[in-house]
Amino acid sequence: AAHSYDYDLIIIGCGVGGHGAALHAVECGLKVAVLEGHDVGGTCVNRGCVPSKALLAASGRVRDMKNAMHLKSLGIKVAGNVEFDRQSIADHANQLASSIKGNLARSLEALGVDMLVGAAKLAGPHSVKYGLPGRVDVGGEITGQDIMIATGSVPFVPPGIPIDGKTVFTSDHALKMDWLPKWIAIIGSGYIGLEFSDVYTALGSEVTFVEAMPDLMPGFDKEIARMAQRLLINPRSIDWHTNVFATKVIPGEPGVKPVIIELTDAKTKQVVDSLEVDACLVATGRAPYTQGLGLSAIGAAPDRRGFVPVNDYMQVLDEKNKVVPHVYCIGDANGKFMLAHAASAQGISAVENMCGRPHVLDHLSVPAAAFTHPEVSFVGHTEEAAREAAQKGGFADKLAVTKTSFKANSKALAEKEGEGLAKMMYRKDTGEILGVHIIGLHAADLIHEASNAMSTKQTVQDLKFSVHTHPTLSEVLDELIKTSHVDPPAQK
Ligand code: FAD
Repeated sequence: AAHSYDYDLIIIGCGVGGHGAALHAVECGLKVAVLEGHDVGGTCVNRGCVPSKALLAASGRVRDMKNAMHLKSLGIKVAGNVEFDRQSIADHANQLASSIKGNLARSLEALGVDMLVGAAKLAGPHSVKYGLPGRVDVGGEITGQDIMIATGSVPFVPPGIPIDGKTVFTSDHALKMDWLPKWIAIIGSGYIGLEFSDVYTALGSEVTFVEAMPDLMPGFDKEIARMAQRLLINPRSIDWHTNVFATKVIPGEPGVKPVIIELTDAKTKQVVDSLEVDACLVATGRAPYTQGLGLSAIGAAPDRRGFVPVNDYMQVLDEKNKVVPHVYCIGDANGKFMLAHAASAQGISAVENMCGRPHVLDHLSVPAAAFTHPEVSFVGHTEEAAREAAQKGGFADKLAVTKTSFKANSKALAEKEGEGLAKMMYRKDTGEILGVHIIGLHAADLIHEASNAMSTKQTVQDLKFSVHTHPTLSEVLDELIKTSHVDPPAQK
């Protein structure tokens, strides 16, 4: 006999992932409930993408105004000092987050989604309990044909680092801009650390990176990271220690007592140095949030790193690696690609799957960006990864790389923004695009032509005759296509 459930789909967590999934589910005719234990919009809207971009927008303008040489080259003279109000910048970030949060909630309610407030806990493969945080008994229990876990992530803090929220803090606190330390150590030089270094240096702070890997910006294409070093690090008041772990941090008192950071060599494990700074931002990645979720009620458990194990269809796997029917997990909680747009794309993909239209998201064509000045963006393989893939796939002699400088782009030159580099890895024999990496003005927007091409499997030849407006920055991509050489097909 057919079961009757309260809902077709229950979504746990209303971050960008849960929101995107809910919208798509309604479009597919499903009856949806969304449970949110904290703030609608999740990390991205309240403590991530949105407020950080507001800070970067304001601090970027401050940097531009302070950069008299650059303005002079455009014929502009600024008289007097550039001043800014820290609190107003923080207010802008806050207000933006609130307004987007309101829009998200209203958009779901308007579509008839039931928005339930409360921390949710799985009670079985078709049922969810919810209530006040830690008091699941106070709320209620609902049932659903399908359940989607979209509980996101929280800052990961390595052992030995006590967060006091004042002098030793994570991005959660840094976004509030309670004060501006003169000297701040940033532990971790991934995209979050990098973006904050951009904000802090623009507003006059000095930054010291502490990075466990041999180079700054681990994971980025190495050549692009070197260019970033030239554009984003060297000209600014930033220094760094690489190959070291921050093994111990002693909080201070703002403006009174420094923070002390003990640095341990990544290889020898010997304490090699210590830093005395005004503040310390811990930007060492994100940990999945599955606390109190009750995964055991469906026979599942977090993996070694705490992520919810899923297959390509975003279906949760139990402890024996078997699919738990009707339960999906998307977004930061599954750790496949921890960015907002990936979370919502996975959500849409999961809804397609539960509606009986099997879909697998091609994560290699999902773009990513650091919103520094200038921006860094990429899609697909780095050059290093492409070489490895080519070696494994037996097409090492077919791998080609083409590059172009922003100096060859008229629009960039008109903006006096000629410092930038774009590169593309592709196959000479098939024209398949393997990866595109850009550093330069508006790189985060420019990457989409490449990600579209990759997700729709368009080759270099397919793009050869697509015309770009002149003069635009998009001609950077055009230049990559024009400078690529695909082998002509063999004569029959
Ligand atoms: P989240 O947004 O974390 O949402 C999960 C939601 O689930 C939360 O609202 C939480 O309260 C709720 N929840 C958790 N457990 C329960 C429960 N048991 N019951 C009910 N509700 C629950 N990404 C980008 O793409 N671009 C950027 O520019 C960018 N910038 C960032 C900057 C910073 C400083 C940070 C920290 C992150 C940034 N990110 C960015 C990453 C992005 O924020 C995340 O990838 C994205 O928010 C993940 O979405 P999600 O829906 O998986 O989870």
